[in-house]
Amino acid sequence: MAERRLIYDLDRTELGQTLEGWGQPAYRANQVWHALYRELIQSPTEITTLPQGLRERLDESFTFRSLTPNRQLRSSDGETEKTLLTTPDGQAFEAVLMRYLRRRTACISTQAGCAMGCVFCATGQMGLKRQLSSGEIVEQVLLFARQLTGEGDHLTNVVVMGMGEPFHNYDATMQALDRLNDAAGFNFGARRFTVSTVGLVPKIRQFTDERRPYNLAISLHAASDDLRAKLLPIAKSYPLEVLLQAAHDYVTRSGRRVTFEWALIQDVNDGVDQAERLADWVQGLLCHVNLIPLNPTHGFAGGPTTRARAAAFQSVLTDHGVPCTIRVRRGIDIQAGCGQLATQSKAAR
Ligand code: SAH
Ligand code: SF4
Repeated sequence: MAERRLIYDLDRTELGQTLEGWGQPAYRANQVWHALYRELIQSPTEITTLPQGLRERLDESFTFRSLTPNRQLRSSDGETEKTLLTTPDGQAFEAVLMRYLRRRTACISTQAGCAMGCVFCATGQMGLKRQLSSGEIVEQVLLFARQLTGEGDHLTNVVVMGMGEPFHNYDATMQALDRLNDAAGFNFGARRFTVSTVGLVPKIRQFTDERRPYNLAISLHAASDDLRAKLLPIAKSYPLEVLLQAAHDYVTRSGRRVTFEWALIQDVNDGVDQAERLADWVQGLLCHVNLIPLNPTHGFAGGPTTRARAAAFQSVLTDHGVPCTIRVRRGIDIQAGCGQLATQSKAAR
């Protein structure tokens, strides 16, 4: 039997064409789409509105489950749940569900590993294994959506902040979000998605030009080029001036706020000098700065900032009128901080 395609790799048009090619009437595509993205079915046998023969053909041609959840870890406060997922070709990556107040946020991956090599990031320390397909990105969201539906609950947000650099897998990432955003299917509001990039400028420009409706976050972590390049090797290719110009253009053209992320590393990038420089760069820009104390990782000697230094850093920004929040590190006991997923899996299995 030919290898079955993952059904979530198809957009609605492609699905329609496939079914049409099988001699099916046009409305069948809507029935299947509805079953996949509204009823969240996991097997074509569940699509009882379809004739038996069509269900069988779907089953022969497509797979409806490609990711195997191998291990789930729940943080001690119960708010964060990390799932290790394995693909049929044996790649492992992680997705996280965070429950905080009324928010149910899925933190999803776009690559197994990452090629960007940011020194403090567990994913960066493992290198790139492979790109995930759009369907594999979609399926992560569906897994959590099904789980929550089973509990009488529902997903409220999706952050593309798991393993990998989404703008290094730009097309698959955008296709996945578009598929989940589709009003005829999963209908997840565009503003409920946030894509975080390490700062690949050409892709930020493409995202802007294409008028993508999803929230954009940029990982800054340093306000001088030399320090940024030490932490994020890719920064050598895109100096801050170029990166922040792209951020400005994004805000001007989209009319939307940009988020900057900053992992506070003790005595590395958590001083008021960096805060002053950051304020100089972003003052007057429609933005929000998220300060996150570093989650320590095995491959990096740096430690998290202290409460006092974080507060001092925040004050500088606030004094300059730059909106800024210090984030709580959720799920730290299960290594589920966004961006530091997965490398433990081998040892723990
Ligand atoms: N590749 C994208 C998205 C995934 S990482 C990016 O880099 O933006 C999501 C966020 O977690 C990024 O801001 C990243 O810099 C941050 N991060 C990575 N490792 C971290 C760590 N050990 N502690 C705190 N934040 C970390
Ligand atoms: Fe990749 Fe983001 Fe980690 Fe950098 S911080 S290595 S871009 S996942």
